[in-house]
Amino acid sequence: MASAPPQITDKTDEQQAITEMVHQFVDEQILPNAEHLDAKDEFPEAIVEQMKELGLFGVTIPEEYGGMGLDLTTYSMIVEELSRGWISISGVINTHFIGSYLLQKFGTEEQKEKYLHRMATGEIRAAFSLSEPELGSDVQAIKSNAKRTADGDYELNGQKMWVTNGLRSGLVFVLVKTDPAASPPYKGMTCFITEKEPGAAENTGPYQGLNVPPSIKKMGYKGVESTELVYDGYRCPAEHILGGEEAGLGQGFVQMMDALEVGRVNVAARGVGIAQRALELGLRYAQERKSFGKPIAQHQAIQFKLADMATKVDAARLLTLRAARLKDAGERSDLEAGMAKLFASEAGKEVVEDSFRIHGGYGYSKEYEIERLYRDAPLLLIGEGTSEIQRMVIGKKLLQRHKL
Ligand SMILES: Cc1cc2nc3c(=O)[nH]c(=O)nc-3n(C[C@H](O)[C@H](O)[C@H](O)COP(=O)(O)OP(=O)(O)OC[C@H]3O[C@@H](n4cnc5c(N)ncnc54)[C@H](O)[C@@H]3O)c2cc1C
Repeated sequence: MASAPPQITDKTDEQQAITEMVHQFVDEQILPNAEHLDAKDEFPEAIVEQMKELGLFGVTIPEEYGGMGLDLTTYSMIVEELSRGWISISGVINTHFIGSYLLQKFGTEEQKEKYLHRMATGEIRAAFSLSEPELGSDVQAIKSNAKRTADGDYELNGQKMWVTNGLRSGLVFVLVKTDPAASPPYKGMTCFITEKEPGAAENTGPYQGLNVPPSIKKMGYKGVESTELVYDGYRCPAEHILGGEEAGLGQGFVQMMDALEVGRVNVAARGVGIAQRALELGLRYAQERKSFGKPIAQHQAIQFKLADMATKVDAARLLTLRAARLKDAGERSDLEAGMAKLFASEAGKEVVEDSFRIHGGYGYSKEYEIERLYRDAPLLLIGEGTSEIQRMVIGKKLLQRHKL
């Protein structure tokens, strides 16, 4: 008998084992705690400690630096599981993952050696910072800048916005202008690896000049902090330019755009995870709740909703895995990553809303988990590029690939 053709959702034994482990961790440690941590907007310290023990901060970091050396596909499977529990948890590792990707792909040997070991264990965590108060989508409009000083260091000045893990991170990969007159502007942008004291609002000593104002109050995505960062005469040695001064100066935009491509797969996986959880909650509630003498799941209108929800979850997962697998195979995946991010984040919001509707009035109550998902899901439409920006990326890449 011929064996079944490979499916995009197939998992290797290793992927099966690790996703089962994370699934169980989510059921036992994250889901029972998410509600009260969300309500208090409290950082999930105990959960993060357990994630360190499980090695989750080093999933994609090579084994030679103490990580697991797994690929983007496996990472996206893990992110889906974590986000099924609480997207704030995936937020704690998302920016760390992007930082470690930047180091692995563009860092010098010294930079990798200096940071990746401690990043693999979660001893230091990373944030990344492009956005500013006056810009998010328009990255080339960045105003923060770095100027070379007489002693060869760089001095950073400017205000950053919306930095996930901005307070507790020990490293921030920050994109600034080193040549404000460059044309086009992206050629004058550089990524610096800025070190700071994790948890310190005001840095002193070698990190003086980098301050973290109080966290931004948000509608959802609680627990993980989003902050501004103020660089005010912050001194950074030239060897902290990602890739080194010679190779990295003026390369920051290209480096960050590359990292955002894998970041988009990561956000897509978060969309799949939150949609999967909303579907589970909808399926359960629809069979428990009765109206007009029967479970609401027996009404065709509810079944149709569930059918649409499940179809969107599967489609989002397939697009996400396709983008991740292409990237892992070393093929171009910019278009596919954009499609996955666009579809999965919109699907996440829609599936959550349908599940909310299935819950009727109780969906509006803090007693039910769907209320948290309803506040969390919209973030996915924004981070790593809004849906409008994804459509711009997809459209541009489509025309490049199908040029007449
Ligand atoms: C909770 C949270 C966490 C975040 N974490 C980080 C982080 O860790 N690091 C970081 O650097 N940033 C982070 N961000 C910022 C995020 O990346 C930006 O919010 C996002 O890129 C959108 O930028 P903006 O908010 O400035 O919106 P704008 O760019 O001002 O856009 C406003 C609206 O206009 C639309 N728009 C803009 N330009 C166009 C165009 N050319 N064509 C059509 N429509 C357009 C947008 O789609 C959007 O609908 C975070 C944001 C949030 C909310």
